[in-house]
Amino acid sequence: MNFLEQKILADGVVKPGNVLKVDSFLNHQIDIRLMQKIGEEFKRRFADVQFNKVLTIEASGIAIAAFIAYLNDVPVVFAKKGQTVNSTDDKYVAKAYSFTHKKFNDIFVSRPYLKPTDKILIVDDFLADGEASKALIDLVKQAGAELVGVGIAIEKGMQPGGAKLRAAGVRLESIAIVDSMDPETGFIKFREQ
Ligand code: 5GP
Repeated sequence: MNFLEQKILADGVVKPGNVLKVDSFLNHQIDIRLMQKIGEEFKRRFADVQFNKVLTIEASGIAIAAFIAYLNDVPVVFAKKGQTVNSTDDKYVAKAYSFTHKKFNDIFVSRPYLKPTDKILIVDDFLADGEASKALIDLVKQAGAELVGVGIAIEKGMQPGGAKLRAAGVRLESIAIVDSMDPETGFIKFREQ
């Protein structure tokens, strides 16, 4: 069992509706040493690819992105969330259905921060149905940039996002993959990697 799986077992809370609550170390309070380890693990797993920018989505993705960006000495760009974005003149916009908030959000990045010459590593805290990743990949494509991979802290393997990305040929690295969880008992089963 790796460090993140151990942390999830120790401090994660399984909620009804397929929700894993990790507020105590990721989504509300942030365990910075754990973020550092996640950054180091991404650095190891993506050692064979080159990227000049890390792209994520506000808010929790930023903490996940910070250390891998620091270790590779590249900037983090985070997509912002808005209800509806009217003008697309100065920004790339994509739609994402939010698993946690049960509604569509526009996400956007201002044009100067994604360029056709960029090689982008996308990172995020969770992968569930793959909506957030799909929208981030859409922004990369709109900019004409190159996607080199997607790094996820916690993939929920019982939801289709991971399978969809892998089937599309995306280089996906998830540090912990939860294959099943039970809100009654709190039992969490991880995929062997
Ligand atoms: P997706 O777009 O892949 O369906 O869901 C990914 C996004 O939804 C993540 O950015 C994360 O914020 C949120 N999310 C999805 N499932 C969970 C979950 O079980 N727990 C938490 N804390 N966030 C989740």
